[in-house]
Amino acid sequence: MSAVLQLIRQRFSPSPAGDIDQKTSSMIRAIPGSSHLVLDSPHSGTDYPADFSPSCDMDVLRRAEDTHVDRLYAFAPALGIAWVEALFPRSYLDVNRSLHEIDPHLLAAPWPIPTSMDAGMLSKVKLGKGLIWRCTDDGTPIYSRKLTEREVFGRIDRCWTPYHAAVAEAIECAHARHGYSIHVNCHSMPSVADRFATDFPGLEHSDFVVGNRDETTSSAALGQAICAHLRSLGFSVSYNHPYKGAELVRRYSDPASHRHSVQLEINRRLYMNELTLEISSSFGIFQEALLSLIELLLRTDTRSMP
Ligand SMILES: [Zn+2]
Repeated sequence: MSAVLQLIRQRFSPSPAGDIDQKTSSMIRAIPGSSHLVLDSPHSGTDYPADFSPSCDMDVLRRAEDTHVDRLYAFAPALGIAWVEALFPRSYLDVNRSLHEIDPHLLAAPWPIPTSMDAGMLSKVKLGKGLIWRCTDDGTPIYSRKLTEREVFGRIDRCWTPYHAAVAEAIECAHARHGYSIHVNCHSMPSVADRFATDFPGLEHSDFVVGNRDETTSSAALGQAICAHLRSLGFSVSYNHPYKGAELVRRYSDPASHRHSVQLEINRRLYMNELTLEISSSFGIFQEALLSLIELLLRTDTRSMP
């Protein structure tokens, strides 16, 4: 267990045993696989916890979700692909952030964990997009109150810890079975970046953004093969811009030992109405294209790539 998690356990023990059974967490869904492929969807959750108490409207808050990403990949478990999914909303806690990405302005008292000094992480916190979000993509404040240390530790314990344990275990099992693993961290993005979404407000997004933190979380060959396949299907693809990938691809990847992690952002206009959040008539056709990428990855042995 990391020093940060140990500190959290010391200061805040959520259960008499001070322990969580990740298998019985009601906040995540984890389905084991048999292949070398692992998919996770950290932002598609729609179960809003009773203790959230946001001050903004629900329709504003719901735009923070990677809506329907879980449905897009519904075919995965039947193909032997391990699947991990957050059931809680991203605006409650963002598991794609590190425990060091906390916004001190959100809290009623000084945060006991050192905050990140990494420029990329700091820029996300500044935008209001740290571990706990301060505002939505259009700048709407999520809270009209300060959060307590106990409240934030509780979210980490119920959401962040079991989610990360499930992703780590799925990758570990896939790698142990096959000697290599490919992890796809599954997201969706609005067609146009809002003011507080990224450092590039107003940017019209491509159909896909493939991110491997500038070819450090997967091999260059794998990242480029994914881009090439999507382009061959007629999609526009950006590579490591404006999204490079964050904590979930950074934390569990090690391309040198054949553990590859790639973040895949899908433009929501390809499969849904961004205002009503309803799926569009093109959902099924788009899902077929996505399936062809996943089938390519199921046929890919990264050990025989350059
Ligand atoms: Zn996302």
